[in-house]
Order: sequence, then C-alpha cells, then structure tokens
Amino acid sequence: MGKSIVYFIPYSSKEKNLKYLREKIEKVFFLTKFLDKLNYGRKLAIKVHFGEEGNNNHLRPEYVRIIAEMVAQKSIQPYLVETSTLYRGKRNNKKEHIKLAQEHGFTLYDTLCQIEILDGNSGESYYEVSINSQYTKKAKLAQKLRRYLYLINLAHFKGHLATGFGGVIKNLGMGLASKGGKLDMHSVSHPFVNENKCIGCGICVDYCKEGAIKIHNLVAKIGPLCVGCAGCLSICPNSAIEFRWDQDTNILAKKVLEYAKATLIDRYALHFNFLINITPNCDCYPRTEEKIMEDIGILISFDPLACDQAGFDFAKKEITKLYSHLNYDEIFDFGEKIGLGTRDYELCEI
Ligand code: SF4
Ligand code: SF4
Repeated sequence: MGKSIVYFIPYSSKEKNLKYLREKIEKVFFLTKFLDKLNYGRKLAIKVHFGEEGNNNHLRPEYVRIIAEMVAQKSIQPYLVETSTLYRGKRNNKKEHIKLAQEHGFTLYDTLCQIEILDGNSGESYYEVSINSQYTKKAKLAQKLRRYLYLINLAHFKGHLATGFGGVIKNLGMGLASKGGKLDMHSVSHPFVNENKCIGCGICVDYCKEGAIKIHNLVAKIGPLCVGCAGCLSICPNSAIEFRWDQDTNILAKKVLEYAKATLIDRYALHFNFLINITPNCDCYPRTEEKIMEDIGILISFDPLACDQAGFDFAKKEITKLYSHLNYDEIFDFGEKIGLGTRDYELCEI
C-alpha cells in the first residue's frame, strides 16, 4: 500500500474566520472529488459528537453547516447522526440526546441537518457485520447506519483516558456502535479499587450512574453493574480507582479499530480530524477543560488510519505525556494489519 494523502487546513478557533474555512474546505472537496461521486437524491450521514452536558469543547455547529451546505448543493440530504452512550446521562437515550444536541446549537436552523439517533430509543437497535478479526467476529453496529451509504466523519481530536486519544477512528468505531457493541469493546476494561488507597469517602458511589460501586467495610468495591465507561477514574481524590492499563486498554483500542473497519464496509466515507480545542479528556467528559496545546487545524483524508496517525504525530508529545500506558505503535500497526489504512501519509497543506 502506498502513501495516503492527508489534506491539512491550518486553523485556529481564536480566528473564527469561517469564510477562510469555507474556502479551504471547498478546495478539499474539489481535490478529493468526494461530492462528485455521490448519487443524486441519496442521504448522507455526518457523524458528530454533540458534547456531554457541561462540556463546550465539542465541534462548533458552524463547521457542520459549512459542510452541510456543500453537500446539499449536490442535492444530497445530509443528516447529523449519533448513537446513545453506554453510561447513563443525557446522551444515553434518543429523546434527551436530541434535546441536548439542540441546546448545544445543533438545530436544523443552524446546521441545515436533522438529527438521527441511529440505535433506537436507548441504544438497543443494531445489525451485525461479520469481520472475523482477532477480537471481534461480528460487530454490532447501530441499526439505522445501514441506510447510509455515504458518510462524512467529523471528529474532534482530543485526549482519552482509556484509548490515549480519540480522533476519526474512535468517532467511527465507538461512535457508530450500538450499546451492545460498545459493551463488547469495553468488556476487557473494568476498573478496580486499590484498597490500600481507598478511604471510603463515597464520592465514586455518588458519581457512578450505573450504581456499580458500593462501600463494604469502609472500602469501595466495583461490582458487576460496571459497564467500563472509565468515568470514575478521574473522580477519586485519592487516585484509588485504577485500570490494568497495560493489557486492557491496548485491547480496547484494537477493538475500536476493528469496529471502525466494520463501519466502513460498503460505505463511501471522508474523514475530518479537527485538531482544535485539544483537551485531556473526550467530549463525553461532563465539564469544559483547558486545552493542552495550541490549535493545529483540520486533517482530511479518505484513509482514517493515516488521518489519525497524522493527528497523533502533531499531538504526540502532549498525548504520551498524559497517557503513557498505551503502546501506540502496536495499536497503529494493528490498524494496518486489519486493512483499515496505512500509517504512511503525505501531508498536503491547503
Ligand atoms: S472516591 Fe476513591 S477514596 Fe472515595 S470511596 Fe471511592 S475509591 Fe474510595
Ligand atoms: S464503576 Fe466506574 S467504570 Fe464502572 S460504570 Fe461506574 S463509573 Fe463507569
């Protein structure tokens, strides 16, 4: 496999120069000819993350609108698509998820797109895609995804406690899986309480929305209700909640790659990695965090692995400083092995 082209639009959210951004994105569509290959009258999915309640670092609806307008000019109807989260909260069910998305500015008026939650009222609807890969034989994808042959993957690149970082691959693999699929990916990664550090304060008990943590003999215990969302890790004031980072999280990251591969079977897709407002944690985190580095811009490619490799190369120092427990080379190599793309890319500045 030769080098993949990754287009690069330098951009800072401070400038907020949407005219400049529109011109650059138009040029990318011209160079990739992505829109020219779409059949008139079809639907196109734009995969976004609307941000958890209290988190304002998600992608701006203005960016979505720029792309939606260009799609609509080709007489293709764009829809904003998402799935329900594994953990409880506002994004855990269709009704509240759409309400929160609209509160965050993703309205039909602002984006020109209706929202479609793809996996039923609360993540239960799925279809299976056979991939026969090392960790995943059949991926459980959100059921209504099968209606979309065209996909624009808009990902916000940021750090992530369990997978080190989240970019275009996580936006596909975790973001388009049904709840059962998300559970399959997380099934290796449950935290545990280090009894020597726990003081039984109960903060984690109040935090866990699954009711998975109980106090026994003044020490917290994580029980079978845990869905492995990893939210409690950063809540404990004594850092008593731990992961077996070495093995578990590397496997989780590889499963996400397998699921991403499944989402792209028989689907025509273009991937956008927004390296803007890069925070330590993902947009599922219920608070707005400070950036860990200056904005870089937007990376665009047909190759999701190359797109994430390029994003990682820009942010490597900051990401590995925060999350040194992952073997990033091994994970990217696995992505190549399963045919998701190539690590070898040529950056083409627009
Ligand atoms: S928050 Fe930490 S110290 Fe407090 S009960 Fe939970 S694990 Fe123990
Ligand atoms: S125990 Fe922690 S990882 Fe498990 S569901 Fe609760 S918050 Fe999530």
